[in-house]
Amino acid sequence: MPAPDRTLDLGAAPSARVIDGDTVDPATQRHPLGAVRAQIHATYIVAQTEDGLVIVDQHAAHERLVYERMKEALAAGGVARQALLLPEVVELEEAAVDRLVQRAAELAELGLVLEPFGQGAVVVREVPALLGRTDAAALVRDLADDLAEVGEVHSLTDRLADICGTMACHGSVRAGRRLGADEMNALLRQMEATPHSGQCNHGRPTYVELKLADIERLFGRR
Ligand SMILES: [Zn+2]
Repeated sequence: MPAPDRTLDLGAAPSARVIDGDTVDPATQRHPLGAVRAQIHATYIVAQTEDGLVIVDQHAAHERLVYERMKEALAAGGVARQALLLPEVVELEEAAVDRLVQRAAELAELGLVLEPFGQGAVVVREVPALLGRTDAAALVRDLADDLAEVGEVHSLTDRLADICGTMACHGSVRAGRRLGADEMNALLRQMEATPHSGQCNHGRPTYVELKLADIERLFGRR
């Protein structure tokens, strides 16, 4: 193909050249969630598929992956734990401490090891390994809130979705974090390989897809 005449073809050439200079690997694009093209607002991943585009909510998607991995680990005999180098003391209301301590054995099965620590505090010694580096204090406070809702009659496994969901939320990539292309493509590939990854733990979608036909309709081309 002849090179476009830059001096004459001012309107069409630049956009055409962007697509020509496209470095997206066609093989990657053939995956259901496509090839990453951009991250916008440090929160959404935009990917190009063979016949459209996909927008992923990075936090919701990652949270779902962590949650599914926790469920798998539980089914396979327990969630791996990771000891904190420095056990973390978390101050809480007395009632919250009681709720956590009552459930300590169940929480340990989920990978969280804590004990009462004097009055109005617990000490966290181990956290679920798959959460990675996590704010243990914030996690424990949110779990204490969850437990208030669980009540005493239910076992935690009945409310696993809530408890694991809270843990997964703390272990997941936040909105607002910049991600590299490799990281984003890896996230998409993991989503494709993970059951139920199209919905977050609260039932909201983790991604939306626009087919070219949908886009054409938006622009009145169809
Ligand atoms: Zn979350």
